Amino acid sequence: MTDQYTMQDPTKMYADRTPDEQYLPGAGTDEELAQNVPADHGEDSYRGSGRLQGRKALITGGDSGIGAAVAIAYAREGADVAIVYLPEEQEDADRILQLIRDAGQKGVGIAGDLKDAEFARETVATTVRELGGLDIVVNNAGKQQHVEDIVDLTDEEFDETFKTNAYATFWITKAAVPHLAPGSAIINTTSIQAYAPSPHLVHYAATKATVNNLAKGLAAQLAPKGIRVNAVAPGPIWTPLQPAGGQPSDALPEAGEQTYLGRWGQPAELAPAYVFLASGESSYVVGETLHVDGGMPTP
Ligand code: NAD
Ligand code: MG
Repeated sequence: MTDQYTMQDPTKMYADRTPDEQYLPGAGTDEELAQNVPADHGEDSYRGSGRLQGRKALITGGDSGIGAAVAIAYAREGADVAIVYLPEEQEDADRILQLIRDAGQKGVGIAGDLKDAEFARETVATTVRELGGLDIVVNNAGKQQHVEDIVDLTDEEFDETFKTNAYATFWITKAAVPHLAPGSAIINTTSIQAYAPSPHLVHYAATKATVNNLAKGLAAQLAPKGIRVNAVAPGPIWTPLQPAGGQPSDALPEAGEQTYLGRWGQPAELAPAYVFLASGESSYVVGETLHVDGGMPTP
């Protein structure tokens, strides 16, 4: 069985889940992905051990991919979880909300567009109201569209990528901080792209460098208040974002080969990093970027 508990060769895990050439329209959904090569979010494997008992978490992009795996893990660790997603992703969101409730926790779905500052701020207010507080913020929603040549990179695409990835992180964090008691945690999803930008992802990579740097600066600013800020930097992870224009379709099958393990990662392999950074186990970890990328050279 492929899970995080059985000792096994990490180069051989998920051999049956190598992506094929495919394209998903819009933001893409896990429902569509599953029709072809499904992703593993830990549905059948993640075991909680009470590490987030009684905590209240807000996870943007918690309907699918990495955010969904984090939502499942947080719920099984004892946290109530609010997830934010686009209205078109309601079915994915409903599946994850059900898994949160199956874990015996409260699950709240918040649909809307994080490019809108007012909505982004409202997600915090809704979470505080529905869950009765907030102590974990995971800024994870993201937009990635490959564009090979800067001459073809539209102002609109540049703007929307920054709004979704960088501005929404700022808006949500700013709205959340007044609610965060000492012991709270903020986690930004950055990327290997923050350190090693691909030529066809320069705008996206710049947003990921921004949220990585924001995590480090805010870590210094908020640590005296007892709020720890950290980041997770995934490598190539099989999620809807990739076939939905994140990479050229014909690059998908081989994209994992650049890693030391020689394969794609699965969302389930990311969740433990987010659990660690949210829980008291990481009480002395501040302003860190945890690389979960199958092994790739980083500074
Ligand atoms: P994903 O498509 O499953 O998740 C991204 C989510 O972002 C979507 O589900 C959607 O709900 C949300 N989102 C996008 N635009 C939004 C908007 N305007 N309003 C509200 N929600 C919006 O893909 P994923 O790969 O799990 O992405 C999660 C994060 O991981 C992203 O920040 C991405 O940049 C980052 N990341 C992914 C990879 C990878 O290889 N998949 C690698 C490095 C970093
Ligand atoms: Mg989604």
